[in-house]
Amino acid sequence: RAKKHYHESHEYFMADMEDNTRWRLEVIRHLRQDFQSNKLQVWYQPQIELNSNRVVGMEALVRWPGENGFVQPPSVFIPLAEYSGLIVEIGEWVLAEAADAWRSLQDLPNAPHRVAVNVSMPQFRNRMLIDRIAHILGSHRLPPTALELEITESIAMDEPKVVISALGALKELGIRISIDDFGTGFSSLGQLRALPINCLKIDQSFIREIANGRGGMYAETIVALASKLGLSTIAEGVETTEQAGFLRGLGCDEAQGYLYAKPMTLADLRQWLEQRIPAHRG
Ligand code: C2E
Ligand code: MG
Ligand code: MG
Ligand code: MG
Repeated sequence: RAKKHYHESHEYFMADMEDNTRWRLEVIRHLRQDFQSNKLQVWYQPQIELNSNRVVGMEALVRWPGENGFVQPPSVFIPLAEYSGLIVEIGEWVLAEAADAWRSLQDLPNAPHRVAVNVSMPQFRNRMLIDRIAHILGSHRLPPTALELEITESIAMDEPKVVISALGALKELGIRISIDDFGTGFSSLGQLRALPINCLKIDQSFIREIANGRGGMYAETIVALASKLGLSTIAEGVETTEQAGFLRGLGCDEAQGYLYAKPMTLADLRQWLEQRIPAHRG
């Protein structure tokens, strides 16, 4: 009886896996098709310097719009794009779009002086990464010093020698490097110190805690660590003035989150920036 039960659940499990695999392949096919017919968009979220309340940067975040809202959120389709390798092309396209967006805003007195772009593991494995990035910067006229690349802790800790030399070459070009979702991976402190990076992005899970009693102990620890390592910090997912005030008190440099603005289209970002000018808030 136990054996029969095993077989039954095993069959269900296999059927589930097949459905899941079919679903994933279907999403990838649809994504590739929509990407090739120019249906993806890049949205932007401002990054604010906590001391001055000025806009200093913006993060480029890809969106997949469909007939009825978004087809899938990035948390679903980015892993599939990574799995299929499509992320290499999508990532280069996002960088080119972000460069054009940055350039198009520079007539505003409070234009962001940097734009941040997320980079995935398969892009990092590609030996062409540095040449491709340099090429896109040149053809889209984005100064390397205006670009920030966000990599995850898992990339940073993978194959230390390869990653350190790639990051070193990017930093040499003048590009800023930050570690995204910092604190959720398993950084070795020894390796962290060896990495040519500029900034730690404190993961939003630690910012959420600032409201609920645990009082942001992790945010405080990460800001202290960054300061010891000579790195700057940005908090992501800042939603309340209480969180922003607490972070400013810690000496955290920048913040990004719904408190300031949600990610938006380039046209909406321009309008949002224009509305901030009269207030002289940068
Ligand atoms: P991420 O790079 O850590 O981006 C931050 C995510 O937090 C974004 O989700 C953003 O919309 C969201 N967020 C910002 N402020 C707040 C806030 O105050 N509260 C809350 N609850 N959320 C906030 P999004 O746009 O859905 O992107 C999810 C992830 O997908 C990104 O996380 C990034 O890892 C990945 N991603 C997005 N665009 C790209 C891309 O062009 N390339 C690559 N490789 N990955 C991307
Ligand atoms: Mg990011
Ligand atoms: Mg993040
Ligand atoms: Mg995140």
